[in-house]
Amino acid sequence: MRPSLEDTLAAAIRTIPDYPKPGILFRDITTLLGDARAFRRAVDELVHPWAGSKIDKIAGIEARGFILGGAIAHQLSAGFIPIRKKGKLPHDTVRVAYSLEYGLDEMEMHRDAVKPGEKVILVDDLIATGGTAEAASKLLKQMGADIVAACFVIDLPDLGGRARLEALGVDVRTLVSYEGH
Ligand code: AMP
Repeated sequence: MRPSLEDTLAAAIRTIPDYPKPGILFRDITTLLGDARAFRRAVDELVHPWAGSKIDKIAGIEARGFILGGAIAHQLSAGFIPIRKKGKLPHDTVRVAYSLEYGLDEMEMHRDAVKPGEKVILVDDLIATGGTAEAASKLLKQMGADIVAACFVIDLPDLGGRARLEALGVDVRTLVSYEGH
């Protein structure tokens, strides 16, 4: 029997305790990316609801969102938009500040990366508090994008990110969830 999606993915994701600091369980997807079947399955399942529909762009959040987002863009025949940490993009950008556990950071997108009304799916590896994805959604909405959904391989539901994005009217798709943080 084919193992369940959640089992296949959970078996391919490595958990590193106390990284990058004590108390954090880091969900490492490099092992999933290195497993051809698990990587393909994650991408196929993330795009499943939109197979055959017209999606203009995939927006990936630096850096793991680039890897998944590039594969998803290829699968849906969509363009790709990199959302990057400040100072990395060479042309005219829009920028948004967002809070991390300690302090603030900023992310940017090229101003001409999306046209008003384009259908966009936002992609990252994991949603925790949802602060990163909310900031990326703000950038996309500011430029007039129609955010069809936000997709993540991993959900940490106890940290409330999914609920936070859904409260903003963004549909959320995730494949495997872990209790706690
Ligand atoms: P948040 O803004 O709190 O939703 O955090 C999401 C971002 O932080 C994503 O880009 C994740 O890659 C990263 N992240 C947060 N928590 C973890 C974790 N436990 N394991 C791996 N990455 C994480």
